[in-house]
Amino acid sequence: MIDILTKHDHQKVLQKTFPDLSIEDIKALIQASKPQFYPQGVDICREGEIGDSMFILVEGEVDVIVHANNHEDIHIDVVGANNYFGEMALLGETTRTATIRACRDCHILQIGHKEFLLIAHSNPQLLRTLLRQIIGHLRTNDQAVIRELNIKNASLKRAYADLAEQEELRTQFIATLSHELRTPLTSIKGYLGLVNQGAMKGKSLKVALDSITRNVNTMVGLTNDLLILYEMHPASAEFTYTNLPDSLIEALNAACENLNNLASAVTLDIAPEITNVFADRQSLTLALRALIENAFKYNPDKKPIHIRAYCPTKEEVAISIKDEGIGIAKEDQSRIFEAFVRIEREGAQQLFPGLGVGLTIAKFVVGRHNGRIEVESKLNHGSMFTIYLPQPTNQHPERPSQN
Ligand code: ADP
Repeated sequence: MIDILTKHDHQKVLQKTFPDLSIEDIKALIQASKPQFYPQGVDICREGEIGDSMFILVEGEVDVIVHANNHEDIHIDVVGANNYFGEMALLGETTRTATIRACRDCHILQIGHKEFLLIAHSNPQLLRTLLRQIIGHLRTNDQAVIRELNIKNASLKRAYADLAEQEELRTQFIATLSHELRTPLTSIKGYLGLVNQGAMKGKSLKVALDSITRNVNTMVGLTNDLLILYEMHPASAEFTYTNLPDSLIEALNAACENLNNLASAVTLDIAPEITNVFADRQSLTLALRALIENAFKYNPDKKPIHIRAYCPTKEEVAISIKDEGIGIAKEDQSRIFEAFVRIEREGAQQLFPGLGVGLTIAKFVVGRHNGRIEVESKLNHGSMFTIYLPQPTNQHPERPSQN
C-alpha cells in the first residue's frame, strides 16, 4: 500500500533538506519537481548513465552502490529521507557515478535540470543558496571519502608492517630450525662415522649409541612440535576425567628425559583436593611439559623449580610452574605466545635452544580446554606460568570447545 504524500509533507521534507531556502523558494522547487514512487529493489538511477535530474528522498531508504573493475557491486552507503543525490545533474547532464537502489519503498521528488534552470533564472537568490548548499554537500562527501581513504591507508600500513614482521619471523625461524637440526645431526653423523670405522667398542659404543638416541629423540621432538603447530590439532583430542597429578609427573619425566637429567631440583606441591580434571590427557601433558622444559631451560644457574597444583576457586584448577631463571621483560610478555617468537637480547651471555613454538602449543591446548594461561615474570628474577582449567562441577560437564 503506497502512502499518499501531500504537498505539505513535501514542504516539510524540503525544509529539512535545504534549511537555507526560504518558504517561497521551497514552494518554487516543489512546483518544479515531480513526485515519483520507486518500489523496493528498483534502481532509481544507474552508474554510467547520463542523468538529467536530481532526486530528493522524501520517504524510504536507498543503497548507494558502485561497480568495481571486476564487475562486483560495492555497497558504499545507505541513505535515508531528507537527503538528496544526483545533484550534479542540476548544472547540466552528467554521467552518474553510482547506482542508487531503493532498499525500501521510496517517495522521491525529482527535479529535472531544465525545470531547475527555469526557476533559477527568475530567482538568482535561490540558485545561489542552493548552489552553496550543494557545493557544501559535495565538500562534505569529499571529506568523508578522504577520511575513509586515510583509514584504509592506515590499515594498509598496518597490514604491511604485519607482513614485514611475519617475513622477519619466517627468516628467523628458518635460521633457528636449521641450527636446531644441524646440532644433533652433526653429533649423530660424527658418532656414526666412528661406529662404522669400528672405533667404538664396549663402554664407548654405549656412550655413542646413547648420544645418537638422545639426538634422534630431540629431532623427533622438534618435528612433533612443528607438526602439532602446523595442524594446531594435537593428536585426536579425547576428553576424559584425567588424573592431573599423573599428567604432571608424566610431563616432568618427559622434560627431564629430554634434558638428559641435567635439571634443577624440583618441588612438587599438589593440593590434596586435586585429582581429576576433564581434559585431553595427551595434549594437556604436552602443554605442561613445554612449560616445565622452559623452566629448566631459561634457568642457567639451575635454581630450583616449583610446581604447584591447587584450586584458586571452586570453579578452577590451577597449575603453576615457577622458576628463578632469566625472567622476561614486561614488554615481551604478550609476544611470547605467538608462534616462532623467541626473545633473544643483543649481547646476551647465553643462547638457549628452541624453535619458539612451545608456548604457542601450550596456549592453544589450554584454550581448547576452555582455560587460560598467564605469566608473571621479572627480568633476571624468574618467571611463573600458570594454567587455569575449569573444574568439572557435575557428572556431565560441557564438552570443551574443539576449535
Ligand atoms: P622456545 O623456548 O622454543 O623459544 P617457547 O614458545 O616455549 O619457545 O617460548 C618463547 C620464548 O619465551 C622463549 O624464546 C623465551 O624467550 C621466552 N620464555 C618462555 N619461557 C620462559 C621462562 N620460563 N623464562 C624466561 N623466558 C621464557
